[in-house]
Amino acid sequence: MRSKNSELKERADKVFVGTYARYPAVMVKGEGCCLTDRNGTEYLDFLSGIAVCCLGHCHPKVTEAIQYQAAELVHVSNLYYTEPMTDLAEILVDSSFAEKIFMANSGAEANEAAFKLARIYSGEGRYEIISLAGSFHGRTLATVAATGQPKFHKGFEPLPEGFSHAPFGDLQALEEMVTDRTCAILCEPLQGEGGVRPLDAEYLAGIRELCDKHGLLLIFDEIQTGLGRTGTLFAYEQLGVTPDIMTLAKGLGNGLPIGVMLTTSEIAESFVPGTHASTFGGNPVASAAAVATMGVICEEGFLEDVRARGDYFRGELQKLADNYPALLSGVRGLGMILGAVLTEEGVAVGTDIVNRMFEEGFLMNFAGNAVLRFVPPLIVTREEIDTLIAALRQVLSEY
Ligand SMILES: *Cc1c(COP(=O)(O)O)cnc(C)c1O
Repeated sequence: MRSKNSELKERADKVFVGTYARYPAVMVKGEGCCLTDRNGTEYLDFLSGIAVCCLGHCHPKVTEAIQYQAAELVHVSNLYYTEPMTDLAEILVDSSFAEKIFMANSGAEANEAAFKLARIYSGEGRYEIISLAGSFHGRTLATVAATGQPKFHKGFEPLPEGFSHAPFGDLQALEEMVTDRTCAILCEPLQGEGGVRPLDAEYLAGIRELCDKHGLLLIFDEIQTGLGRTGTLFAYEQLGVTPDIMTLAKGLGNGLPIGVMLTTSEIAESFVPGTHASTFGGNPVASAAAVATMGVICEEGFLEDVRARGDYFRGELQKLADNYPALLSGVRGLGMILGAVLTEEGVAVGTDIVNRMFEEGFLMNFAGNAVLRFVPPLIVTREEIDTLIAALRQVLSEY
C-alpha cells in the first residue's frame, strides 16, 4: 500500500525548487519533543526544527498567545505602534546588555541589519567585517559572504565586498587582518552549523580586546546560541564577554519567524528614519509568540534545569563516545547544544547514522561534516534523553 507520506512527497517534489533533500515524512502534529507524521509514526525530536522550538512543539502558553493575538490584530507595519513588539523589546532590553532593538523576520535579516549598522556607524571607508573560518551567518548574499565556509559561496560570486574570514582560534592572524577599513569583528560564541564548536572564553576575551584596541565593533551572532540554548539566556553571559551588537532569531518565537538585532543607544543612533526598514518586522503575532516564549525561559529555575539536563545528556553521550572510540572521538557543546564528534571512520558513516536514527524514529542531524548534532527542545526530559541514547547505542553497534 502506498503511504500517505509518499503521496504528498510526490506532489511537493513536483512544485518545489529543489533546495532541500527532505526526509520522507510528512509531519502533521507536534507536542513537546514528539512529532507525528501522516501515517501516525511518532518521532522524538532532537533537532527542534533546527534549534527553533526551544519550548517544544506547540507549547500551550505560546499557542494561547498566538491564538489571542491572531484574533485581535495580525499586521499593521512599522508605521504604527503595537503593544506586543513593545513588550518584547522591553523584555529583551531588560534581560541583555542592549538598550535598543531592531526587529526583522529571520536570522539572516537580523545579521543584515547588524552589518548595515556597523558600516553606517563606523563611517565612510570603514566597511570591512571580519568573521571566522567555519562560521555560519545566513543565506542572503551578504550573510553568505560573511559565512566562513567556501562551500556556501560556490556559484554565487561575485559576493558583496568587505567580508573576510580569519582562521579559527588564531588571535594573531585575526589582528593581522585588521586594516583601517575594518569596522567590526563578527562571530558566533559557539559555532552551530560549523559543527558545535565553542570559542573558549580566553579567545573571546582576546577578540574583545582587539576590538577595543582598534576601535571595532564586536558583533555576536547568537541566532542559534541565544534564548537558553547554551544553558544561559545568552551564551555571552557565561563566556564573560559583552558584544556591541547581537543578533537573535531561531528560538525566539518558538517556531514563529522572527529575528532581532540588539545594540546600545550610542550605536543605535546611526540608524534614523529611512536608513533601514522591514515591512513585517515586529509583527504582532510573532512578537506575542516571542513574549510568551521569553516568559517561560525566564521563569525561575528554568535555565538551571536546562543546565542540569544538559550536563546529564552530555555525560550519557560521553559514555557512548567511550564505548565506541572507533566512531566517536568526544563530545562538545554547552547546555542543550551538544555534538558527538566523529572520528574519520565515523565521518564516513555520519549521514548513515542520522538516516538509521530517522528510521528508528529520532530526529537529529550531521553538522559541519564532523559531528552528530543534538539541539532538542530545552524541555527534553531525562527519559527522552535515555530513549535516544539507547537507540543511538544500538545504531552505533551496527558498525
Ligand atoms: C540559522 C542561523 C542563521 C540564519 O538564520 P535564518 O533564520 O535561516 O536566516 C544565522 N546565523 C546562525 C548562527 C544560525 O544558526
